[in-house]
Amino acid sequence: MPKDLTRRELMSRSLAAGGLFAAGSLMPVSSTLAQQTPERLPGQTEHKVPASLEGDRVVQPRRDVPVLHKTSVLVVGGGPAGTSAAFSAKRMGVDVTLVERYGYLGGLATGGLVLGIFPLYDRSNKQVIYGIGEEFMKKLDVMKYGIIDRNKAPTYPTIDAEAFKFVLADMVLDSGITTYLDCWGVDAIVDSKGAVRGAVFESKSGRQAILADIVIDCSGDGDIYAAAGAAFEKVTTNIGLISRIGNIDEVDMAPGRGSEDPGKAMVGKPSDGGRPSKGRVNDFNGHAGNSTPAPHVNWLNMRGPVGDALNVADLTELELKHRRGTWSNVEKLREKPGNEQVYLAETAPQLGVRLSRLLDGCKKLTNQEIRNGAKFKDVIGYSGAYANAPEFQIPYGTLVPAKVENVLAAGRCISAEFEVADITRLIPVCWVTGQAAGLAAALCIQDTCKPRNVNVAKLQSLLHQQGAYLG
Ligand SMILES: Cc1cc2nc3c(=O)[nH]c(=O)nc-3n(C[C@H](O)[C@H](O)[C@H](O)COP(=O)(O)OP(=O)(O)OC[C@H]3O[C@@H](n4cnc5c(N)ncnc54)[C@H](O)[C@@H]3O)c2cc1C
Repeated sequence: MPKDLTRRELMSRSLAAGGLFAAGSLMPVSSTLAQQTPERLPGQTEHKVPASLEGDRVVQPRRDVPVLHKTSVLVVGGGPAGTSAAFSAKRMGVDVTLVERYGYLGGLATGGLVLGIFPLYDRSNKQVIYGIGEEFMKKLDVMKYGIIDRNKAPTYPTIDAEAFKFVLADMVLDSGITTYLDCWGVDAIVDSKGAVRGAVFESKSGRQAILADIVIDCSGDGDIYAAAGAAFEKVTTNIGLISRIGNIDEVDMAPGRGSEDPGKAMVGKPSDGGRPSKGRVNDFNGHAGNSTPAPHVNWLNMRGPVGDALNVADLTELELKHRRGTWSNVEKLREKPGNEQVYLAETAPQLGVRLSRLLDGCKKLTNQEIRNGAKFKDVIGYSGAYANAPEFQIPYGTLVPAKVENVLAAGRCISAEFEVADITRLIPVCWVTGQAAGLAAALCIQDTCKPRNVNVAKLQSLLHQQGAYLG
């Protein structure tokens, strides 16, 4: 490799690499490009040409993006869906890369302080979610202060955020998954046929690309599939901010345990059939929350007002106002005799975004289907019964975009009607869709096929082998 390349040489090399993608081949990027695209070109990691002001327009120059890494399966987002997807794919022996915008794994289940593991059980209190999620909980079982209320249906388990961060860090370190934290996915890479070939990330290293054969969008907000041009429905709903309160010995809402079920215990007004409700910034009135594995520490779930999770102004306003409201709630709580020593242990580092983008998938799971107990040939798992909905099957088609190739979705941004997504977004269901997406992506690599052409019988058999419940 010559030390200094002219801009023209650089362009022609990039075009050569682009030509390979344009062929639309599903040959692993890692093997086809390893010899031809340099890992990093000299002087490319720093963006030296700034954006310019042209009249009242800000214009960014066209530029080359250095390739940070090449992989078979790229998982964007390290929350419940993303970690589950990455582990299940890696166990198939394929090369997996996991990228997360924050400095820890777990998504809302750790950084959002969402500690209740809700729809695990069917209406007869039988557990219907196993697989990787069950593995996570088993690891927490043997840790001091890791999890409470396991196997006590209908009461749901509650986890400790730090214990879960530890479990995920420990598992990732031993897994062989290439992981990048503090790295934010900002664009999709598509070839001339519109098929996804990786993603572009921003980090302290600048703007870099990761090339991949299959991308699994576990960002919660569908950031990557939206950037790739996949169709989606944008929704707005209640945005809260969860906190932990220390030195407290009372709970608000047993046995609801801070349930997301609007009909049960929840700070804020009930919603109408899963639709957004009129939550306020400070919904609390000296609420105490519910117990956690840590002694004398409660978690306080919050509905919050309806906001646009894709609008930075809304996010900023809610982050600030929720923290102010949470502090005043604790002050109010202290006024109660016996609670004088209560303190605010922490507000969640990340805002409580429930839903934002819902994929237009090969299959959109409808409210009517889940209420009628619909059965699907391509079932990849179950959600337990929740609110007034029974347990229901989740079809594979909800993870596959209707049109764009080489990308899958898992977690809270899959293809479902709002009322259904308000259940499939819950943590254990995200574990289910994440595991299925990870295995489907691995099958794409092994069988050289597109996500929409995955052999469903094989996928179901692999899910069984990995301990998942399919009915
Ligand atoms: C206030 C609130 C209360 C809730 N209560 C409960 C409850 O009690 N029980 C329950 O089971 N569920 C509850 N939920 C739902 C549940 O917590 C989430 O829906 C679930 O964690 C979603 O998992 P996910 O992996 O799809 O997304 P997330 O948990 O949001 O994880 C997505 C991950 O992707 C990362 N990411 C996002 N964008 C990018 C990007 N562009 N590049 C790189 N990384 C990115 C994020 O940092 C995050 O780590 C609640 C949710 C909220 C908001």
